[in-house]
Amino acid sequence: MSEADDNDDDERATTISVAVPVALDRGFSYRLPADLAPPTPGSRVVVPFGRRVLVGVVRRQPADAFSEGGPRLREIIDVLDPPQRPALGDDLLDLCEWIADYYVSPIGEVCRLALPGASMGVDARRAALSEAGRAALQATSGELLAAASSPSSPSPSPPPSSADAQPLSRPLEDADLRVLERLAEATSKRREAIAVASLRKLSPPIPALLRRLEELAEAGLVTLDTGEADAHAARTEPHYRRTDRLRGASTDEPALRQAVGRSKQRRALLDALELHPPGVWTPLSQLRGPFPRARQLLPPLLEAGLVIEEQRLRELDPFADEPADAREADPEFDLTDEQDRALASLLEALAARRYRSTLLHGVTGSGKTEVYMRLIAAARAEGGGAIILVPEIALTPQLARRFRQRFGDEVAVLHSGLTDRQRLDSWGHIRAGRRPIVIGARSAIFAPVPALRVIVVDEEHDGSFKQEEGVRYNARDVAMVRARSLDAVVVLGSATPSLESWHNVHEGRLGLSTLTRRPDLEGGERALPEVEVVSLREHMPDPDTLLSARLRQRLIEVVNAGEQAILFLNRRGYTTALSCKTCGSLQQCPDCSAPSMTYHLSRNRLVCHLCGHIEAAPKRCLACGSAELEHGAAGTERVETAIAADLPGARVLRLDRDTSRGKALLDLLGRFRRREADVIVGTQMLSKGHDFPGVTLVGVLRADHGLALPDFRSTERVFQLLTQVAGRAGRGDRPGRVVIQTWAPDHPAIRYAREHDYEGFAAYELAARARAGNPPIGHLALLRISGEVRGRVDARAGELGHFARDLAARVAGDQMGVEPPIVVLGPVDSPIERINRRHRVQILLRSSSRAPLRWVLKHLRHRLGSEGHGAKSTIARADVDPYGLL
Ligand code: ADP
Ligand code: ZN
Ligand code: ZN
Repeated sequence: MSEADDNDDDERATTISVAVPVALDRGFSYRLPADLAPPTPGSRVVVPFGRRVLVGVVRRQPADAFSEGGPRLREIIDVLDPPQRPALGDDLLDLCEWIADYYVSPIGEVCRLALPGASMGVDARRAALSEAGRAALQATSGELLAAASSPSSPSPSPPPSSADAQPLSRPLEDADLRVLERLAEATSKRREAIAVASLRKLSPPIPALLRRLEELAEAGLVTLDTGEADAHAARTEPHYRRTDRLRGASTDEPALRQAVGRSKQRRALLDALELHPPGVWTPLSQLRGPFPRARQLLPPLLEAGLVIEEQRLRELDPFADEPADAREADPEFDLTDEQDRALASLLEALAARRYRSTLLHGVTGSGKTEVYMRLIAAARAEGGGAIILVPEIALTPQLARRFRQRFGDEVAVLHSGLTDRQRLDSWGHIRAGRRPIVIGARSAIFAPVPALRVIVVDEEHDGSFKQEEGVRYNARDVAMVRARSLDAVVVLGSATPSLESWHNVHEGRLGLSTLTRRPDLEGGERALPEVEVVSLREHMPDPDTLLSARLRQRLIEVVNAGEQAILFLNRRGYTTALSCKTCGSLQQCPDCSAPSMTYHLSRNRLVCHLCGHIEAAPKRCLACGSAELEHGAAGTERVETAIAADLPGARVLRLDRDTSRGKALLDLLGRFRRREADVIVGTQMLSKGHDFPGVTLVGVLRADHGLALPDFRSTERVFQLLTQVAGRAGRGDRPGRVVIQTWAPDHPAIRYAREHDYEGFAAYELAARARAGNPPIGHLALLRISGEVRGRVDARAGELGHFARDLAARVAGDQMGVEPPIVVLGPVDSPIERINRRHRVQILLRSSSRAPLRWVLKHLRHRLGSEGHGAKSTIARADVDPYGLL
């Protein structure tokens, strides 16, 4: 926060730096017109940008002296937020600046991420004609007709204005009247406001449209909606709920017949409400879908006491299927000693208002969520708020439900299924403190929770916390930065912590609490499931079902015993590798320790994307000489069909990302949980926190296929996956069994998973990473260059590569003698060479410490972004701390 220097001239004092939501990584300055009050940093402003008009955010730092236009700066058109309530509060504005800096991303794009839906970007304001405006229009239209016949006559006089509006300081001009007429036209038809942007398209164009609208609004002739989520006015709407009166009664019931009358629609509406569990409120907007006339249908039902109405906060929460007002007190049970110890240190930091981050390492069911909830309850007791980040809400509805049960209406669930409007409503409620507990995926880290005291990152190892497009931030890391600036407490929870977090524990940057027991089981610990590893080298699987004789036998036993099984087909990475059908071998790069070779079908070559090593694809397996090499996906569908045919009588379901999303996914999981199927075949989605009490067998069909992923994290991912999947077995009262089929029974990922040995695995893998200089020991940044014209992409990548090498050499020059702190690898084709007709090339920067890497990025920064026009354009972006290298 810098104060303006005394010797700054006026020009400088009214120059404002704005984060404009475009993919250009630089500052944009505007002049503040004399009649606008200086906007608070974080406020949204309307600015001209090229030929467009965009909504951006005011930055705190003084405008860059060198930025566009020099003395001929363009002017800010309007300020959208009131001075005391900028869209981005101090803490979030600082966070956005940090992200833009660390992740080398355009600040405008970062701010846009942090704000809901359409708050930034194109001007989303809407205008409508007010009563006074209508009167003015009528009063002047007569005069106007007269004026039209004699061009020299004076303009019509300004109309009388209402009490609280400033009268227009000038006469109404033709252009004003055209605006009013256009609004009158639109509002008489649809009786609602129209987008300001659409007025801009009128022809001939209206001069100084925005300024004019502003003036008309000030004079009370026009109303302007700023598109802001109003933090003060709680948006409510009527909600309805079925009472117990005559619930489930037959249509013959006289009282019911009287209330419902002869309307079939009304009966259907009552039935629809009856389907919800008691206590659930349904918003009017939701009823209007199936019942457009809901407003007319409801009154008799309300009168008869069959349905009750209440004004409630408007927002859609897809998981509000529990009575939110049935608040549960802290449950009866005492915490275990382990939970107690974990909680105590967190509560201490909370009370002291000190930043603390802790890794909570505990298997599924060890009581992590209980620790989160008690910590949050303590924060709530002193008026604090909390954010809980989860990998994907659709996959973990139980967590949101438990929070709702405990904290009732204080919980907002930010779900990807929300519309912009709903998101804006939620955002307004959160910001006003009406929803102090926020649960959501990645982007919920930007929730404007007042007095934020606690941030939980559940399943912190999950890759989905890393955004893989646009601003490539990692929400887990951003959570720690945000918490640090607020002196808040962070908990990272996982059964299989990321190696980053594990390493941080050992470096003293992260505390550690461990939960080793599952408290809900009588008589103490329940044994972890027994893991059997079946070597596919010795036990050939059936080519269609992919089952070995052993797994098939186990499956039959489980189905016959009326229990359930999950069969897990890890398809990821399989499509990019070349594997041997006979021995399962995958090709390794001679120079890299990771299984990093990708098969490129088009040129029949194997390419190492880490170092660029290229070789012709072998005709025979290098390990066993077999000529049967395969690539491509073995679809879950094929496996599902084959297994259903092989085990007559077994009910088989299939779940994968292609077939199951959103509601369909929840339905499918619900069916399996209710035991409407015996076997479910699925991809890695099945490894996430689902709880299926009936499952006693988990089979992993091809454990090693994840190992084929050309990525230094592939071993870690497979270990995590196997451990998480194994955690699905025997969650009920029966012991579980896991069968892992693999071509590589001795691979460390599989060996340690079999022994349930996280620490052993972490030690092994960290050593491997250290040898290769990979994270978390070393640090990476990936430059990604893409474009439609191959030659342009190569040329740009070549230039960037040279430049990066120059910079790296300069760092090295400063540190004579020691090994070069930065290695530049590439450019090489990305493992996925083409996406959406764009060629992709990458350059990997690797460094043993962060500082020199950041120095190089800082100096590279102005060379990134898009270059050229149309089909010939190329885009270069940085991915700092990349997660996947695909
Ligand atoms: P995790 O988040 O690690 O999967 P949970 O917090 O969901 O674990 O706990 C698993 C189950 O054990 C839940 O049903 C929870 O209510 C219960 N539970 C948690 N802590 C205790 C405790 N101290 N005593 C008894 N039951 C507990
Ligand atoms: Zn082979
Ligand atoms: Zn290599």
